[in-house]
Amino acid sequence: MCAIYRTKFNREVSHPNYVNMTILQYLQHPDLLKASSVITSSGNDVRGVYLILESSLFYPQGGGQPADQGKICVGKDVYNVFDVRNVDGEVRHYIDKDYFNRTQNRSVEIHVDEYRRDINTRYHSAGHLIAAIAENLSSEIVAMKGHQFPGEAYVEFSGVLADAENFMMQMKKVLNDKLNSNSPVVIKNLDAEQAEIIEKGLLYKVPKNENLRVCCIEGFTPTPCGGTHVKNLREIGPINIIKCKSKKGKTKIFYNLSKDKQTNTIN
Ligand SMILES: [Zn+2]
Repeated sequence: MCAIYRTKFNREVSHPNYVNMTILQYLQHPDLLKASSVITSSGNDVRGVYLILESSLFYPQGGGQPADQGKICVGKDVYNVFDVRNVDGEVRHYIDKDYFNRTQNRSVEIHVDEYRRDINTRYHSAGHLIAAIAENLSSEIVAMKGHQFPGEAYVEFSGVLADAENFMMQMKKVLNDKLNSNSPVVIKNLDAEQAEIIEKGLLYKVPKNENLRVCCIEGFTPTPCGGTHVKNLREIGPINIIKCKSKKGKTKIFYNLSKDKQTNTIN
């Protein structure tokens, strides 16, 4: 998804600011990693024990981007959040131990793991950039989805490349130029009229009766997305294009990021 790219890159979370009454604060405040909230309910399913909050800073896994992790503190009790999912419209925060206090509306403190959020944000943004550059370079492929998990990240396209070797050479050059360009990445909410214009380049319909959240990388077509993004391409750091597979109607570009954010060079 990020709704992802032209098909469903973060499509399901690109519109609402809340899910089943959980206010998704990361959409408006992506830099906020600590906040107070209230437990509205709890439960357990196959993934484990979970808490549901009135408002949450945690990114629930989706759109190819992994879930945030972190802590929820209930008084002196600390619960480690190892996964966050949107299940049937509920944002479930999975915790590492049982939650015995069934008192609802208890105040909590939320702490999102900063390192994990940062690396997921950079991987996710890198996926957008790779998709956008690839589509600009070749009319043979259209970005379909992204998988932005560190260590196994790729962008998948429909279509195959006639000359993958030459494409990859150009891809690396443009990517390197863009990473050093200081180009801003901006999140906007489009009204119905603006959304209709964006929809013309998409392979799916977008809702017309609510704001559409889009990720805009300078110089490229905005993409509907509910993920977390860098504010400037330089923040992504070096991108290593590992390999490109182009066969049987599909093209996949695999990549990883260096932890070093200081020098933007592509291996
Ligand atoms: Zn995105």
